[in-house]
Parts: sequence; structure tokens; C-alpha cells
Amino acid sequence: MAEQSVSNSGAQTGGKVTVILGGRLIDATGGATIKNPVVVIEGKRISRIGTAGEFPLPEGAEVIDAQGLTLMPGLFDCHVHIAAYNTVSFANHRIAMFEVSPQLQSFYTLYHAQLCFEMGFTTLRDMGRNNAWANFAPELCAVRDAINNGIVPGPRLQVSGRIMTTSSHHDLNLPRAAYRHPGYTVDGPWAIRGAVREHLRTGVDIIKTCVTGGASADEEGDTRNLTQEELNAAVDEAHGFHKPCAAHCWTALSHRMCVEAGVDTIEHMVYTDDESTRIVVEAGTPVSPTLLHRTDHAIEVRRKMGSAANVLKKMKEVQPYCYDSFKRMHQAGVRIFMGTDIQFDPEMGSNATELELYVKLGMSPMEAIQTATKSAAEAMRLHKDLGTLEVGKLADVIAINGDPLSDITVLQKKDNIRMVMKEGKVYVDKLREQPLYVIHPQPGQTRLADS
Ligand SMILES: [Zn+2]
Repeated sequence: MAEQSVSNSGAQTGGKVTVILGGRLIDATGGATIKNPVVVIEGKRISRIGTAGEFPLPEGAEVIDAQGLTLMPGLFDCHVHIAAYNTVSFANHRIAMFEVSPQLQSFYTLYHAQLCFEMGFTTLRDMGRNNAWANFAPELCAVRDAINNGIVPGPRLQVSGRIMTTSSHHDLNLPRAAYRHPGYTVDGPWAIRGAVREHLRTGVDIIKTCVTGGASADEEGDTRNLTQEELNAAVDEAHGFHKPCAAHCWTALSHRMCVEAGVDTIEHMVYTDDESTRIVVEAGTPVSPTLLHRTDHAIEVRRKMGSAANVLKKMKEVQPYCYDSFKRMHQAGVRIFMGTDIQFDPEMGSNATELELYVKLGMSPMEAIQTATKSAAEAMRLHKDLGTLEVGKLADVIAINGDPLSDITVLQKKDNIRMVMKEGKVYVDKLREQPLYVIHPQPGQTRLADS
């Protein structure tokens, strides 16, 4: 599939001129850090990058003084669930599933996206949601379009439509006893092709399916959820409309099935073997690790939010396999791109903690940063416009306290994220006398509806 352009990204250059003065610049190409950088932005795009004193600043330019701070590309989280049942105003996610209407859930979706945005994540790829009524794709598209049309501030979104076969992982996100509306699940290649087409009519960017079980309810994670023929149908139909297909995979068998079907991205790293890893490397299929969702902290958050004991037990059991698979895949040269699987566990906005896990498991800080910038943009086929700070690219730039190349955890602290720019426009600016924020409610200020 061809690379894609960011929709609504407008003229190449021209328009308002902004200059950012920084302390150091990590352009995420993998090259050396630039000291005392000057980044010139015309309209939405970067028109020049140099160092202080190298050229006169353009006359009349707005200057953002971020000297002493690190400039780097806006971050990507390529596997989030911003439409997860809200647990900001519900203490129990299983109650929220039946108490929150899709209409209200849409507002939470935006709120979750904004929490990530304020932490420097200017692009999110949402991996879809189903709720007690239906597939949540129309609402996800609405939130995406409200942001893209400039009605509300937020990160660039790509959203998924889920293909759910009966008894699959996605189907079992809903309790077994809950009523399924006709068409909620689909089985067989032609029904799957029909469901893909329906999602594309709704306007999703990605088709998502699950090849194996996972950690919902009392399902087993190593089950096979669909046949090769069904997976081939989902991928082929998506590709017919020039859209990618992402697949949730927990097993080595599912990796082999994905490569045969031509899946665009593999989601999660749970059970792998050397042979399946080799096949994935040869195919060049990017894999999103989603390790943040596997940590003890995430399991503890799940416990507090009412997850069943068998789910918690399963999460703990798979943990070492996930970490081992990450090391195996990294060492073998798999194309790794950053995804967290954040829903309510752990907290929205803590996305960058994923990178600390990568470094602990053997990546260099630069490699880890690239999973959330350059490699992420490549996996999403947005690398023509995004992922690195280079002349001609869209100006998604963040300014942070500290140097993530020497301490990757600096990206996790909200106070450190001093400025967030998306396509040349500043959305968060703590450098001004009157700081600019996206999110206004502070923790504790929202009401718990089921307390
Ligand atoms: Zn997920």
C-alpha cells in the first residue's frame, strides 16, 4: 500500500512564520543531537532547521523561546483505546459499560485523546471499541473529524472499525450474557467483506480484527478466532479500498497467518517462537508491543477498576512471555512501533512509560524514541509528513524539560511537557506568562457517578 498524506494538511509552506529556539534538538532520524537549534515554521510545515546565529531570524516571526529545552517530534501512540469505558467518572469499568451511553462515551473519548495530547502525543491510532449497543466506529470517526475540522483541540487520530467474529476476543469484550444486536458479530469470508465495507462507509481509517483470543473475561488467549480464509477476506477487502488491516495476535500461529494474509500491522507481543519471528522479520510487518498494559501497575489499576480475578490472573501469567517476546523480536530485527494498549489501565496520558519498558528490555533510548516517532509514522504510512523533524514535514513539535536520550522517563512527567505544537499551531504552552492548556479539570475535580 502506498504512503498516505495527512488529510487537511493544507499548503506546503507559506502563511504565518514561527521560530522555535531550543536547547537541543532530537530530530528522530537517528542522527546526532543539534545544540541550540532554531526551527523555522511557515504555516503548517518546517521550512528551515539550523543553529543559533547561523542565519538571521525571519522578520516579523513569532518567536517561541524554548532555550534550555529539548525539541523533538510530536509523539505517536499507535495502539490506544480512547473510547474505553470511562473510569474518570465511574469507579468500576464493568458498571460503566452499562451505565454510559454511546453519546456520553463520545465526550469521554475526546477527553482521553486530549489527556494524551497534553503529554506530547500529537498522533494516536485508536484500535477500536465495541460497547453494549454496537460497534463504536461512528462515534470514533465523529471525534476524529471534530478535531480535524478544528472544532475542538486534540491529537491527530486514526480510528479503527472492528471485525468481530462470534466468540472472538473482541466479541467477549462484552459479557457473554449480554444481548448482541444483529450484525454485531460476523462469520465467514463474505459476511466479513460486508462488515469491512460497512466500516469503510462509516469512514474508519483502519480495519482491525483479532486472530487470537486475549484477556477478556474467561476466554483463553491462545485460541484461534478466525480461519485463514476469513483473515484473508478482511485484509483483501481493506486493501481493495486502500486501507490497512491491523490484527490482534497472541500466538506464533497467528503471526504466520498474518504474514500469509498480508496484514499491515501486528498488535501485541505475547507468545512467539524463533520461526514465527523470522517470518515476521522477512515480511517486514511492523509489530506494536503494548507492554504498558502488561505491567504490575496496570494489573493493579484493573483490580481497582473492578476487573474479574481470572482476568488479573491471566494478565500476570502472560507478563514474562510478553517481555521475552519483546527481547526476541527486538534482537531479531522486527520493525517495532510504539503502542500501549492504554484503555483505563493504566492511566490515560501515561503513554510514554511504554518507552521506559523498551529501554529496560534492551533498546537504546534513541531506538525507543524512534518507535514513537519515525517508526510509528512509517508503520502508519504517514512518514512523508510526520515522524521526524525535517524541512518540509508538518510541524508537530514538542518542547520538554530534560534529555530523554539520557533519561527516557522525563517524557512521563506532565510538568516536563512545556510546549505542544501540531501542524504549526501551539496547543500547550507553559512558557508563556499566561500558560495555555488543553485539559482544564484537574484530578479530583470530576465527579464519580457510581460512588
Ligand atoms: Zn488493544
